[in-house]
Amino acid sequence: MIRTLPLTCSRCGKVFTAQDHLYYQDDFTAQSFKDIKLVCDDCIREWKEKWQIDHAEFHEENYVLTVTITLKDGTVYKNMDCTPMEDTESVVTGEDIPPEAQHTLYEYYVTFAQKRESQQIKDCFFTKEAEGKMSADITTVGGERYDKLVFYVEDGYLKTEQDVPDYVMDGLVIAYKSYLAQEEMLSTASQPAPRMPQRKPMPESQWNTGEGYGSGNTTGGFGRHNRNPFGGF
Ligand SMILES: [Zn+2]
Repeated sequence: MIRTLPLTCSRCGKVFTAQDHLYYQDDFTAQSFKDIKLVCDDCIREWKEKWQIDHAEFHEENYVLTVTITLKDGTVYKNMDCTPMEDTESVVTGEDIPPEAQHTLYEYYVTFAQKRESQQIKDCFFTKEAEGKMSADITTVGGERYDKLVFYVEDGYLKTEQDVPDYVMDGLVIAYKSYLAQEEMLSTASQPAPRMPQRKPMPESQWNTGEGYGSGNTTGGFGRHNRNPFGGF
């Protein structure tokens, strides 16, 4: 059966002519060829012209990367989920973006990633101060230094006496947690080995005293009924 497919743009609704290729919108719900969403050259041109990026700001929280894009025409796309693709040097977002704009976005991403890298904490040394306070000497990868940064924990939150950027605070919290964990480990290691548990009868309710463990233990034992499933001591 031969059918015809009119070249009608799915965006502007105009009938158009085509040269050597057609633009169409990806659509996984399309059931048959006639459902294909064609896009005319004019709409493609308009779309490419629209996607002139004026500014892009990346943000990462809990390993989720988002980007807020401002176009030259003033349109703002806020906090879009996005994925940088190193092999194609582009950034893919939920919005349809022309390849040229995806590349531009990638340049913004590289700048963001470099800055983020430089803000990582390279060194952090702790000193115990008076009144239960601590101080930290911090150096970032980018060479920023924070000397004798006094901090303390209050109501479960780490607080510094001077204002520091968020990335320093985040790094400090992580470093201090691992410092505390290490302290704990060292103090446990330096304690004498735990004594053997005393043979104190356990409350009966904690043990299975039902039948069904064979003949039970009749040679001495643990507990009144000598039916300790773990055998006698
Ligand atoms: Zn069109």
